[in-house]
Amino acid sequence: MATKTANIAAVRSNAGAFILVTLVGLGLLTVSGMAQATVLHDAAHDQRHAMAFPCH
Ligand SMILES: [Zn+2]
Repeated sequence: MATKTANIAAVRSNAGAFILVTLVGLGLLTVSGMAQATVLHDAAHDQRHAMAFPCH
């Protein structure tokens, strides 16, 4: 009985992870598909400076 309960919990956990990863993936596709290239470039550039990566 305990094993069956553990299996059900594992399946629910996997389903939650699947839904989360799917939503994150669709979000990344939407953002990268809809955003202007300059906006993406500026965001990456600002992140590089925030990480103190030598840039220019
Ligand atoms: Zn820079």
